[in-house]
Amino acid sequence: MRYIGAHVSASGGVQNAPLNAAKIGANAFALFVKNQRQWSAKPLESDTILEFKQNCKAANISPQHILPHDSYLINLGHYDDAKREQSFKAFVDEIERVSELGLELLNFHPGSHLNEISENECLNLIAECMNEALKRTAGVKLVIENTAGQGSNLGFRFEQLAYLIERTDDKSRVGVCIDTCHAFAAGYDLRTPEAYKKTMDEFDAVIGYEFLSAMHLNDCKFGLNSRKDRHESLGKGFLGLKAFECIMNDERIGEIPMILETIDDSIWADEIKILRNLQKGKK
Ligand SMILES: [Zn+2]
Ligand SMILES: [Zn+2]
Repeated sequence: MRYIGAHVSASGGVQNAPLNAAKIGANAFALFVKNQRQWSAKPLESDTILEFKQNCKAANISPQHILPHDSYLINLGHYDDAKREQSFKAFVDEIERVSELGLELLNFHPGSHLNEISENECLNLIAECMNEALKRTAGVKLVIENTAGQGSNLGFRFEQLAYLIERTDDKSRVGVCIDTCHAFAAGYDLRTPEAYKKTMDEFDAVIGYEFLSAMHLNDCKFGLNSRKDRHESLGKGFLGLKAFECIMNDERIGEIPMILETIDDSIWADEIKILRNLQKGKK
């Protein structure tokens, strides 16, 4: 069984996200658990939490197929101690919100060195924050997303993700989310069965499928190795549908949430159908 959905709107409150997922025929979804462009937010009300859980149940979507995404402001690799501390606090707050909602995963971007420190120094700061956050919380897995390598964002090489996993004390609470657009923009080809196999064999050798906790399924507005983070609707970009056919039929991928972050939300229901149709012998 494949669990497919989209990063749906939580406007009006997180309790609306599962309703929006149900509307597009999803059996998985992603959401922001607080306003992604603000540092602070008021605590989740108990009514909101209850309603969220009821709506997930009504939509028949279970916690392991729900992938909260953290705020865009957070940079766990910030060179400035005060700024990194601000990010760290916001990160812990996000983990606590995820946990209050009865969820198990938090998808985040590793961080940026801002051309002030080396890649390695930045990765060490990120790993330090991850370990400290894991110590202070329970029950939530930190899911590191690969990036397109735009600007000074780290996490665009599988080796960088593997390094963070390697430095994480509790390996049971760390995983990765592969965003197909970001991977392609960072130079990992997925367009043909041969290219897909080569990239994913490399993924398995460097990171390991056992750490693959989620995927973001996006086509890409620019070509291979563009280092630009610009998503496109499935089949309308430089990646093409063959890549998604390979993913849908890759038996090494477990029952993880597969999330669309494509640009036209009016066709998400169709894109979910396209993905299901690409799966051979649809289980
Ligand atoms: Zn992301
Ligand atoms: Zn993504």
